[in-house]
Amino acid sequence: MNKLDEQRQKEIQQAEELLFAGPQALGFAKGLFQGHFVSDWVMPYPRIPEAQQGELDQTLTELRKFLNADLDPAEIDRQADIPRSVIDGLGRIGVLGLTAPKEYGGHGFSQMANCKVLEEIGRRCASTSVFVNAHHSIGIRALLLFGTHEQKQKWLPKLVTGEQLGAFALTEREAGSDAANVQMQARPSEDGSHFILNGEKRYITNAAIAHELTVMARTPVPGSDKTAVTAFLVTPDMPGFEMLEARMPKTGIKGTATGRFALRDVKVPKENVLGPIGKGLKVALTVLDFGRTTFGACCTGAAKTCLELAIAHANTRRQFNKTLGEFELVKKKIARIAADAYAMEAMTTVTAAFIDRGLEDYMLETAMLKVFTTERLWECINDVFQIYGGSAYFTDLPLERMLRDARINQIGEGANEVLTSFIALVGMRGPGMEFKEIYDTMMKPSRDGMSKAWAAGKNRLSATVLVPDVPVQSEQLRAHARQLGRLIRHFNFAVNRALITYREPILDMQLVQERIANASMDLFAATCVLSRIDGEIQFTKRNGNAVSPDHSAADLFLRQSFRRIRGFLAGLTDNDDKAVIAAAKSCLTSGTAEAAA
Ligand SMILES: Cc1cc2nc3c(=O)[nH]c(=O)nc-3n(C[C@H](O)[C@H](O)[C@H](O)COP(=O)(O)OP(=O)(O)OC[C@H]3O[C@@H](n4cnc5c(N)ncnc54)[C@H](O)[C@@H]3O)c2cc1C
Repeated sequence: MNKLDEQRQKEIQQAEELLFAGPQALGFAKGLFQGHFVSDWVMPYPRIPEAQQGELDQTLTELRKFLNADLDPAEIDRQADIPRSVIDGLGRIGVLGLTAPKEYGGHGFSQMANCKVLEEIGRRCASTSVFVNAHHSIGIRALLLFGTHEQKQKWLPKLVTGEQLGAFALTEREAGSDAANVQMQARPSEDGSHFILNGEKRYITNAAIAHELTVMARTPVPGSDKTAVTAFLVTPDMPGFEMLEARMPKTGIKGTATGRFALRDVKVPKENVLGPIGKGLKVALTVLDFGRTTFGACCTGAAKTCLELAIAHANTRRQFNKTLGEFELVKKKIARIAADAYAMEAMTTVTAAFIDRGLEDYMLETAMLKVFTTERLWECINDVFQIYGGSAYFTDLPLERMLRDARINQIGEGANEVLTSFIALVGMRGPGMEFKEIYDTMMKPSRDGMSKAWAAGKNRLSATVLVPDVPVQSEQLRAHARQLGRLIRHFNFAVNRALITYREPILDMQLVQERIANASMDLFAATCVLSRIDGEIQFTKRNGNAVSPDHSAADLFLRQSFRRIRGFLAGLTDNDDKAVIAAAKSCLTSGTAEAAA
């Protein structure tokens, strides 16, 4: 086995361990790759139960009042600090422990309700929303999900009020996108009472202000010379904890404290291990599922702000004796922002509901949500920036700050390229395994193999022939639903063709993977939008409301999304991939810009 094969085997083993621990029900996104529409995951559109809606409304009212009076995003950016009064206020309202169970002092909110709160903060200040995410969505999440009752009792009460703060520390110099490559070591002490941690972490939000850090480090696997990642609860008062840089100067979200720290022979009691020993990567990825949903919520909030700003300016600024909003190229931008904001909210709500319903394995959908919302927000900000023209460039308006703040979204919590490849590869695994079954049987026929291959073949064939049913309730949505069904079949056909054409090399063909992932993300987004419109129409009907909500932006989203999907799939056979690879190779091997020009 050569080095590359060895590395590939290692990656596959890790992925298997992380993702396919046992038999699982077919989730929505995996269903898409099989040509199915797993409707009970996405329809009817989820609603917050009435009992919790009242509590949420009250929290939102209190939060808005507080943010209007006490949050100054421009000042936070200028001072590169979130004042303690803001943190205390958020703690008082309950924002810093919203989803924690009431028995530990939290609000016991669902992830859907939590997302509504984060959307409200994301609307105003990215620094503050990233701070809240770092503390509550990921910082204390491992404790909430994997902590024992004793650990929760000990740590949570102060963390959920904001008296103490949390952070999540995975990234290191050698473990960025390659998160499994954590180098920080955790050696068990001889008497087994504690672990001794050594190593460095970087780019950690809240590191310098946190009282509790969830730290990932490698522990030995008993009976072998291997190591595996384990999650630890570390406090900065432990001897050997050294803050190397408390606030690394940076482009945006300047109010957050992003730091670097070292652990030098830090003794961490065994009582501080979070979750099973050696299962830290599973802990980390589960934590990030939560982080990615609130990421979606914050991006939704920011996109709504983009829309408000765009409308305000387009209706008032006059050039050529017209308001800017009278020009079609401005209208186009405003319509697109409105369509995207509607879709981002729908996708966030549907994905958060997967968590609340206790469904299994929604890792693909949270990855899709993260990539889709962060890419769309970047476009939204770019569009509104353009509408404001020169004025956007000056610091008296919030747009340059919003632009700087939004840039981290495509990088943090999994760079979008890494997640895009992940979506395609994990999604294609199901049909890929079926083809492998067929191929292996053709190469080496056996009775058992034949029956498995027959079942796999039947599955593949029926998925390419049948158009899945998209069961909307509203008559006026049937045409869109049929079109979505046809596109899912088309998508499945394209996935099958790519698997048959490229076979194993597809594992490295990221340009192909990107189109497949992009098509699947748009299929998921369009589904969420369709489900949301359907839910709103039915809700209006049930409540006898005369005025039906305006769905023109949602309708536009569906049309544009369907067009994009067709484009991505067409690109699988009509593209410049060879030329792209050749040009990049020429640059990378010559090492100079001149040689390539
Ligand atoms: C402001 C800020 C706050 C952060 N907060 C935290 C935190 O609280 N906790 C924490 O643990 N981490 C945190 N991070 C770290 C963040 O998650 C990482 O920066 C991110 O995972 C990317 O890792 P990297 O920076 O090492 O980039 P690299 O891994 O070096 O990747 C650089 C680029 O290479 C490309 N790339 C990499 N791998 C692939 C691939 N397989 N295929 C295609 N392209 C690829 C991507 O375009 C990527 O953007 C934070 C980072 C920042 C900037």
